[in-house]
Amino acid sequence: MERIYLDYSATTPLKKEVLTEMTPYFTECFGNANSLHSFGREAVSALDDARDKIAFLIGAKPNEIYFTSGGTEADNWAIIGGVKANADKGKHFIVSPIEHPAVISSAKRLANDGYDLSFMKVGADGIVDVNDLKLKLKKDTSLVCCMLANNEIGTIQPIDKIVSLAKDNGSLVFTDAVQAIGSMDIDVKKLGVDMLSFSAHKFYGPKGIGCLYVKNGVKITPLVSGGHQERAKRGGTSNVALAVGMAKALELAVKNKQQSNKLILSARDAFIDKVKSGLDNAVLNGSLDNRLVNNAHFTFKGVSGEALLYNLDLKGVCASNGSACSSGTVEPSPVLKAIGLSDNDAKSSVRFTFGEEVSLQSAIKAGEIVVDAVKFLLNK
Ligand code: PLP
Repeated sequence: MERIYLDYSATTPLKKEVLTEMTPYFTECFGNANSLHSFGREAVSALDDARDKIAFLIGAKPNEIYFTSGGTEADNWAIIGGVKANADKGKHFIVSPIEHPAVISSAKRLANDGYDLSFMKVGADGIVDVNDLKLKLKKDTSLVCCMLANNEIGTIQPIDKIVSLAKDNGSLVFTDAVQAIGSMDIDVKKLGVDMLSFSAHKFYGPKGIGCLYVKNGVKITPLVSGGHQERAKRGGTSNVALAVGMAKALELAVKNKQQSNKLILSARDAFIDKVKSGLDNAVLNGSLDNRLVNNAHFTFKGVSGEALLYNLDLKGVCASNGSACSSGTVEPSPVLKAIGLSDNDAKSSVRFTFGEEVSLQSAIKAGEIVVDAVKFLLNK
């Protein structure tokens, strides 16, 4: 049975070229980047090269790049470290309600510690409401946080407008670019953000490494303390192999972006057409125009999303519901709730995310399998 992987937003396979580039740093070049001897110098030189490459690819300076253990740590750090370090401006901060749990949980932790958290509104199309942000900005708002593109419904957010409003108010802007970076142009200077996070395993790099860009001059309190790594802002022995892998993966992603986006978009759109034409109860969630090329997210009214996922898996189609699943009960996704879906509709939703390896034929086949599985479950 052909397996069709449609969960590229969860993770991507490591590219062979990336593995090749990383491998020596697990074995012969194993030095600690903090050691003064030649093994250490070899390691620090590879780490510096990776930092330079990443900085160049996102329009940053090398000393604005901080390696982390992934997107989650980078998000935690930006929110907690950013809000705490800038409390002289005020204790208020604003977050979009469709952020990844890595952001939402950090924001709630700060709120529990006495910081003043507001959520901006989001429309039914999955795009944040900048007019609402305008109303919520206060003199003491230190930070505004809105992701570049959403991880569940793929909607691309109006960061330019958010930056412009926040800057007029003297507030910092943090954006989570974890889902955006493989397929969108990322230039931190053009975006005008103060902090930006991403994670290598979303663009064919290794798991367990990410990055936080922090613009020079922006204050941030360390989250992970210990050694003096990352200019004394993030302790812990540097993972040179993973940093080298992330830099190579980003280089390939940027180089292949145009061609890869074209292929992904045509496969994704063929899938959407197949599903829509085959089913009356399928509703595509989120704006189609302002959307990542790889994302199709449907509510199949009257069908359990969880049952559908199991059914699809049996037929080789691997997708996701994007919600927390604990002890057999699937909580409705807060993102889907925020855009106005009922609990039932939220629980009847499935995310399909595409990557370079999904051919047009496989996408069409997956669409047919989805149509059959939904009809089967509706008639049960
Ligand atoms: N932010 C977004 C938007 C994500 O989609 C993810 C992962 O799915 C993360 C953060 C967390 O990244 P990581 O898996 O590297 O911890």
